[in-house]
Amino acid sequence: MREDMHVHSTFSDGRHTVEENTATAAQRGLQRLGCVDHVRRDTTWLPDFVRHVRAVDRRTPVTLEVGVEAKILDARGRLDVPADLRGVERIYAADHQVPWREGTLRPQDVRRSLQLGRLDRADVLELLTLGTRNAMRRYERVVLAHLFSVLPKVGISEDDVPLDLVDELACAAAETGAEIEVDERWRCPSPRVVARFAARGVPVRASSDSHRRETIGRYRYVHEVFRTVALARLTDPRVIDAPSRHAA
Ligand SMILES: [Zn+2]
Ligand SMILES: [Zn+2]
Repeated sequence: MREDMHVHSTFSDGRHTVEENTATAAQRGLQRLGCVDHVRRDTTWLPDFVRHVRAVDRRTPVTLEVGVEAKILDARGRLDVPADLRGVERIYAADHQVPWREGTLRPQDVRRSLQLGRLDRADVLELLTLGTRNAMRRYERVVLAHLFSVLPKVGISEDDVPLDLVDELACAAAETGAEIEVDERWRCPSPRVVARFAARGVPVRASSDSHRRETIGRYRYVHEVFRTVALARLTDPRVIDAPSRHAA
């Protein structure tokens, strides 16, 4: 695993600079580093960030990629990104809240409403996957950031996401050129989900989602998932390559 495709810097809420992160990645023998910082619609430092990462990239053997991470804003898949995304190579679409019909719902509110029976689990899963799917269609070069990380926060297990919803996401990713990451910090998505994407040829990235350089390229969960998915495909490809109604 010679890459870490999701590392934050001082441009947003990371503790270390792009140079410090890159030096650590080089020391640890990584070949690729994803320089990813949190943006919002009104973020003004993006052109500086792009220029800066490109400048550091010229001085290191590590291949740097410029990424931004943004919240999915609603079920239509709008993302909390500035209008001008020039120089950005990947947009990490994140389920920091639950995308809803107009705007997002806070995880703690969704959890409470589910407990009180005011919301239905199936609706939550439907709107979350709809927003995620639409984000892939609306923007180019999307990476699904820590997919389903919001589910434990609302009291739903990732294992309860029906496979047909997972397959709809995987097919949308394959069609749109989106990618998926396995995220060490949030320990998601699960091998069951990653396998559905891998089976459709969707590239899977290794990410630590580091906010400090000590954890760059350090994996336990990510290793486990890659190993499990590879093994499952070797021993019984039918398990995960089973044709579904969404298969292309
Ligand atoms: Zn995030
Ligand atoms: Zn992140």
